Amino acid sequence: MRDIDALGHSPAETVRENEKTATCTVDGSYDEVTYCSVCGTELSREAKVIPATGHVPATAVRENEKAANCTENGSYDEVVYCSVCGAELSRETKSIPATGHTFGADGKAEKCSVCGAKNPDYKPPVNFKDVKPGAYYADAVAWAVAKGVTTGTSATTFSPDEGCTRGQVVTFLWRAAGSPEPVGAKNPFRDVKSDAYYYKAVLWAVENGITSGTSATTFSPEDVCTRGQIVTFLWRANGKPSPSKTGNPFKDVKSGDYFYDAVLWAVEKGITLGTDATHFSPSDTCTRGQVVTFLYRDMAQ
Ligand SMILES: [Zn+2]
Ligand SMILES: [Zn+2]
Ligand SMILES: [Zn+2]
Repeated sequence: MRDIDALGHSPAETVRENEKTATCTVDGSYDEVTYCSVCGTELSREAKVIPATGHVPATAVRENEKAANCTENGSYDEVVYCSVCGAELSRETKSIPATGHTFGADGKAEKCSVCGAKNPDYKPPVNFKDVKPGAYYADAVAWAVAKGVTTGTSATTFSPDEGCTRGQVVTFLWRAAGSPEPVGAKNPFRDVKSDAYYYKAVLWAVENGITSGTSATTFSPEDVCTRGQIVTFLWRANGKPSPSKTGNPFKDVKSGDYFYDAVLWAVEKGITLGTDATHFSPSDTCTRGQVVTFLYRDMAQ
């Protein structure tokens, strides 16, 4: 008998064994093994790596949301997680801008409809019992209140027929000029106290040559003004313009009167008429209704 030569192994196709799946961050592995297709002997075994897959970011989500309100910013975290393993991949805090107040469609409502805060631009409607819609001063009063030149004498009254005091008229003029701070702090008037509503207005008016005191040490803020005085205040506040026309229709306005130029200028400018065709009545008391009308015609028209 002769020996028969060994045939040698016949390698089958490789197979995977001991497979460990890769995750997002950790490599996997397997053995690549070859057996003999005839006798089954293991011919080779090689360890292989399965690379980690890496995370798969999902759509960002909002967390820890704090809503903004009218005045304070809100915030939230914008977070991205891995859609496979759930790991947090990024977190960024974002700001939500404050919304601002909601003062109605026109911005003029009294209060914010969201938080109830008061509107600094709110102007109460003119609703004075003693200012009838048809009165000659009704538009002037509405203008003066809207512009902050005056308020009523109470929440419901304007007192249009009351005499306008010196303290009131300088305050009207001062507010109409934008409430400028007086430059000098010296107050020569004993009857003008620093807590009076007309304090700054008086100092400003004196400083700007609109009025002087009634004496070196008194201003007489409670004295009621005459028509002659009021047009003079207005005229001086306008820089003492010369009337352009000559001719004076008023018997009670003489060329030597301190209010002469002021009256002619005011009539020419349409700020006031006489009390009739030939009289200005410069010594008549000037009412609050008249003063705001003069101011209105001077400044708003
Ligand atoms: Zn074999
Ligand atoms: Zn992952
Ligand atoms: Zn608000």
